[in-house]
Amino acid sequence: MTIFEKIIKGEIPCKKVLENDEFLAFYDINPKAPIHILAIPKTNVKDFNEANATLLGKISDFIKEVAKEVGINKSGYRIISNIGKDGGQEVPHLHFHILGGAKLKWENLE
Ligand code: AMP
Repeated sequence: MTIFEKIIKGEIPCKKVLENDEFLAFYDINPKAPIHILAIPKTNVKDFNEANATLLGKISDFIKEVAKEVGINKSGYRIISNIGKDGGQEVPHLHFHILGGAKLKWENLE
């Protein structure tokens, strides 16, 4: 079981931002920006490659709600989903990083 599944089940605590029947958003434990939130589906989907269009559509709407909830929808933010080894994915459960709260740099992505 991945750490995110444990968070969904409530076995590991998280700092929750927003939740509905299908998705959960919580603060990343190792933030890379002043605001760094992870949005995940409650179903077990390994990564972006395995996500269907319906799920991606719904999680997109959820991410927009999260951005509004924390007040970065107007100032702007970045969404990242790491996929596989070269993408730097550590947790094999689909997640979108939502980063904001400052003007983000676009260098040193390696
Ligand atoms: P990735 O490298 O794209 O798989 O991202 C995994 C993210 O999960 C990293 O940014 C970690 O800091 C974050 N993370 C790992 N464990 C936890 C946790 N228990 N609570 C919140 N975030 C976590």
